Amino acid sequence: MMSSVPGADKKSKLLVYTIEECPVCGQKTKRAFSVGDYVTKESSKCPKCSNSTRVSLVYAESTKQSG
Ligand SMILES: [Zn+2]
Repeated sequence: MMSSVPGADKKSKLLVYTIEECPVCGQKTKRAFSVGDYVTKESSKCPKCSNSTRVSLVYAESTKQSG
């Protein structure tokens, strides 16, 4: 038998998200991660007050389907 790698599921996929937070008004925006994102990085403009938002969190979600 071949050795299997724990956690490397055949069907489950990870989606990575970036949370941007505006330091002025506190507006949070969730968007898909793009290469080069990191926490504290200056990101897009706040939709509310037009200040620059900063990346406050980067995380991954599993897209494992249930049922
Ligand atoms: Zn803002």
